[in-house]
Amino acid sequence: METLKTLLSKVRDCQACAHVLPLGPRPILQVAVTARILIASQAPGTKAHHSGVPFRDASGNRLREWLEVSTDEFYDTRNFAIIPIGLCYPGRLPNGGDAPPRPECAPLWRKKLLAHLPDVRLTLLVGAHSQAAALGRGLMTSRVRGFRDHLPAIFPLPHPSWRTKHWAEGNPWFDTDVLPSLRAAVRCALT
Ligand code: SF4
Repeated sequence: METLKTLLSKVRDCQACAHVLPLGPRPILQVAVTARILIASQAPGTKAHHSGVPFRDASGNRLREWLEVSTDEFYDTRNFAIIPIGLCYPGRLPNGGDAPPRPECAPLWRKKLLAHLPDVRLTLLVGAHSQAAALGRGLMTSRVRGFRDHLPAIFPLPHPSWRTKHWAEGNPWFDTDVLPSLRAAVRCALT
């Protein structure tokens, strides 16, 4: 198997779907062989594209609050790897929503990247696209509510975008039942 350094160099040079990326290729990920928790997210947004750092935005703040981890813990590669299903910003849909992750990306890179994470104890499936890639088709809300079916290795979550605030208001069990269990699973995986 090639080294992680070689693989990351190839990922950063990838141009496979450059012709359809509105801002061009810029893979955004955080990977180290030491990681204990994998955040399987969807695709970077414009802020991550410009900064080069995943989740350094309001969604990231919400995700860290859900996980009950500090910013330093979150970006410590001994703790977390962050690998979206689509590694580059995919653009927006005509209706203004985020475009889905590019379909070319996961078949090219995902399996190779995950092979360099031997110590991962918990995978957080963040958002419907991530859940579909790992578990097949299904309803995001049902999966999150049934999170116990996937423990101890997998924890399905909604995407922590501003829209989720309204979703959580309509699904109060997320705060009362899911988040305490999520925080316990994260602490268990990190210690
Ligand atoms: S989204 Fe993935 S496949 Fe497309 S250019 Fe970026 S790294 Fe390559």
